[in-house]
Amino acid sequence: MSVDRRKNLYNVMALVRGFMTTFHFMFVKKPTIQYPSIKKQHAPRFHGLHELRRYADGKERCIGCELCAISCPANAITVIGAENTPADRYSPGERFAARYEIDELRCIFCGLCEEACPTDAIVLTPRFEMADYRRGAFVYAKDRLLVPPEAGVGSAPDERPNGIPSDLGSVSHVKSTVDIATGYEATNRGTILKEQRRGLAG
Ligand code: SF4
Ligand code: SF4
Repeated sequence: MSVDRRKNLYNVMALVRGFMTTFHFMFVKKPTIQYPSIKKQHAPRFHGLHELRRYADGKERCIGCELCAISCPANAITVIGAENTPADRYSPGERFAARYEIDELRCIFCGLCEEACPTDAIVLTPRFEMADYRRGAFVYAKDRLLVPPEAGVGSAPDERPNGIPSDLGSVSHVKSTVDIATGYEATNRGTILKEQRRGLAG
């Protein structure tokens, strides 16, 4: 058989194989999931939206060390630490995160922030629902990141008896504390950090 005829035969066989795949799937049960009433089970190590955890006594785990921000390859995290005082104590350490923000649009969900955190404060949850028309709404501040005290303070998100609080991270229900203008500016972290530090010092 000539080379040309062999090539043609190979192409025809490839076509037949392709059509057989299509034909096969005409009789396979469709994996349609009635989202959002039914949600697909993720892989156990799926990386979704972030959460800041608390200790069992309700104190914040985050000590404002900024290691997560330094380790973030997407430059998505902004942390401004401040000192705890005996009268106003947020975390067990000397410092706490006075401001903690993650730009979820910049985030590539690599989990390096989680790895870098010395207190296991920042974790990635299986929550994935985030949609909005405003860019600023994707800058998650502490009001949306910090787990509410009643939602399972000491345990990791996927170990909680009542699951993950569905209101956290759902931008349609929770208004961001970061207004739209600030959200835009947050992509320019250098400028915004400088301004915030100046504000805290004042
Ligand atoms: S998951 Fe990765 S990209 Fe996202 S905030 Fe953490 S370190 Fe940055
Ligand atoms: S989340 Fe962890 S790494 Fe990031 S500032 Fe808080 S304690 Fe440090």
